Amino acid sequence: MSAPERTPAELLAMPIQRLNGVGPQWAEMFWRLGLQTARDVLFFFPRDYQDLTDRRDIDSLEEGKLQTVSGVVEEVELRGTGSGGSVLGVLVRCREGHLRAVWFNQPFMREKLSFGQRVALSGKPKYEGLVWQMHHPRVERLSDDEEEPAGKILPVYPLTEGLAQWQVRRVVRGVLQWCNEMLDEVFPHDYLNRHDLWPLRRALPEIHFPSDHESLGRARRRLIYQELFILQLALAQKRQQQRTRHRAPSLTATAKIDARIRRLFPFELTAGQRQAIGEISADLADPSPMNRLLQGEVGSGKTVVAVYAMLLAVACGYQAVLMAPTEVLARQHALTLDRLLATSQVRRAPLTGGLSTKLRDELLRQIAVGEIDVVVGTQAVIQQDVAFAKLGLVVIDEQHKFGVRQRATLRQAALDPHYLVMTATPIPRTVTMTLFGDLEVSTLRDGPPGRQTVHTYLADESRREKWWEFFRGKLAEGRQGYVVAPLVEQSDDLSAVSLDETYESLANGELEAFRLGLIHGRMGPDEKDAVMDDFRSGKIQVLVCTSVVEVGVDVPNATLMTIESGERFGLAQLHQLRGRISRGRFPGYCTVFADPQSEPSRRRLEAFVASCDGFELAETDFRLRGPGDLFGTQQHGLPPFRIADLLRDGELLDEARRDALELVAADPGLSRPEHARLRRMMLVRYGRALDLGDVG
Ligand code: ADP
Ligand code: MG
Repeated sequence: MSAPERTPAELLAMPIQRLNGVGPQWAEMFWRLGLQTARDVLFFFPRDYQDLTDRRDIDSLEEGKLQTVSGVVEEVELRGTGSGGSVLGVLVRCREGHLRAVWFNQPFMREKLSFGQRVALSGKPKYEGLVWQMHHPRVERLSDDEEEPAGKILPVYPLTEGLAQWQVRRVVRGVLQWCNEMLDEVFPHDYLNRHDLWPLRRALPEIHFPSDHESLGRARRRLIYQELFILQLALAQKRQQQRTRHRAPSLTATAKIDARIRRLFPFELTAGQRQAIGEISADLADPSPMNRLLQGEVGSGKTVVAVYAMLLAVACGYQAVLMAPTEVLARQHALTLDRLLATSQVRRAPLTGGLSTKLRDELLRQIAVGEIDVVVGTQAVIQQDVAFAKLGLVVIDEQHKFGVRQRATLRQAALDPHYLVMTATPIPRTVTMTLFGDLEVSTLRDGPPGRQTVHTYLADESRREKWWEFFRGKLAEGRQGYVVAPLVEQSDDLSAVSLDETYESLANGELEAFRLGLIHGRMGPDEKDAVMDDFRSGKIQVLVCTSVVEVGVDVPNATLMTIESGERFGLAQLHQLRGRISRGRFPGYCTVFADPQSEPSRRRLEAFVASCDGFELAETDFRLRGPGDLFGTQQHGLPPFRIADLLRDGELLDEARRDALELVAADPGLSRPEHARLRRMMLVRYGRALDLGDVG
């Protein structure tokens, strides 16, 4: 296979089917794993390791610690259980005695464990009924001629059907031997020294076949750092590009403008709001477009900050637009503006559904000629229809949605507008630094003073009667409340209570003495509007609703919330819902009825009850879901990580980000020769996803 006339690049690009020992059948399985070339194999990282370093004889085993024993399979017994499951019991004869390995419901393991086979078993043993047992140990088959892998840490790769660990290991080992020395270092040499990083040629063999734990740690550090660093470089380039490629109007807040805007607010701004406004004002004054994320929980005062920014734009002679994800929220924002701007001359237009064609056309005309300063509406309507005369600022209220990467595109002639994106879902810190890393971030951690705590309870059916009694008592005192239920079809899921059922049974039972309203996403905008108005005015005392439509609803007198089928809601969603009843003079009470079927949903609900801090809950949620789920990078258009893990590698992320910013500050276009490799790698990996095409 060695071919002296080939260049290193050619060798690394060698198609997998041409590697030694890889026939067409193997090749196809490797393709299924996404591996095409020798290089792909080198960077195909183990998902785990089988730690065979702690090898024991039977008489020196300890309970509960990961250890490895080896021996010969002496008995294999597969039994069915009454309930359709299976138990596989395997007796292994070791030097000093026997060990019993047990697998529940994994009958296929039997194939690995034929009589007489030599194996190494790794697991946490337990002494049970006079014999040592391991449940679900890892199995390493040892061939008779193969030397025992004494003291090894073996890689465990992701597999595909038909492919075994030993096959992947063999190919990886072969490619490493053959290609490792061909690899070019990505970082300048002195960079590695300064940042305590191993060279690539040293790290790669050790990530696949570690000599010991310490080497594995060093190899991981190097490779994770590299992955995070390259992403941070790309994000830094993106931010720089956004600043330099486009021109936005320079909107400068004079002391007079600032005072005039602040006078409109009937309260002192919080420290967090002042800081956010400071950051935004600095961005707006700069003629490069702002791209800023404003995060803070519902009720933390984001809208007020956004209104400040919009008024600043208007004061400078530009238009501003506020876009919401739903009609209900757009109306809510329009009302907020009406309230705050009652005494001002700013000309506003709410562009929501249900306008007559004539009125709507007239508004569009006024916006196009600049007779209107501030437009409020849904993202859909505004992006579709509206042409602006002189747009200076776009505020996008994402509420609880992610997906900032798809930026709004508005019809606009001359300069680009500034962008401010608001999100009410607290985002874990490490996610902010990566998926949202192309945005500047302002955070409102603490809301306005006097927010009420919400007493939150998790309850089962036995508590129902007592809770409704309490609920009725508070209604009688004049409070209002929500009852949230998932929207389910009758046929959908028998265990969940549907919205209609909930409404019917409350109206004819627990709450029959009170005025109930019903609202859900399938109602028309006018209908929804009417219900919301009645709830706001108190005509409706209890609003039965789904989780989606009423997220932004602001009714301070509502202090009660019942959530049905709580196991069907995510943690962020539950917390959003609870935010509705923390806004008034009275403390809130929230009870979640749930039948948590699974361990994760039980832990989610317990976390919800235990904390009212959205940022804390976001971190918990992230841990429970794992990084692959909601924050899976695919849906944000970034390629997934190969080795880094945002849950585990927070510290390394900080380090990589700091270093990347430093490097870009010193060499903005990454144009120095010693940075050429880093730059190329960044473009290969993120050029397309982040549209970095012709950087520098
Ligand atoms: P968000 O947009 O983050 O949900 P809002 O800006 O709508 O929050 O503010 C929530 C509520 O708190 C509103 O009723 C608003 O008038 C009020 N509010 C905002 N900032 C302050 C403040 N600094 N002091 C007192 N009340 C405030
Ligand atoms: Mg708001």
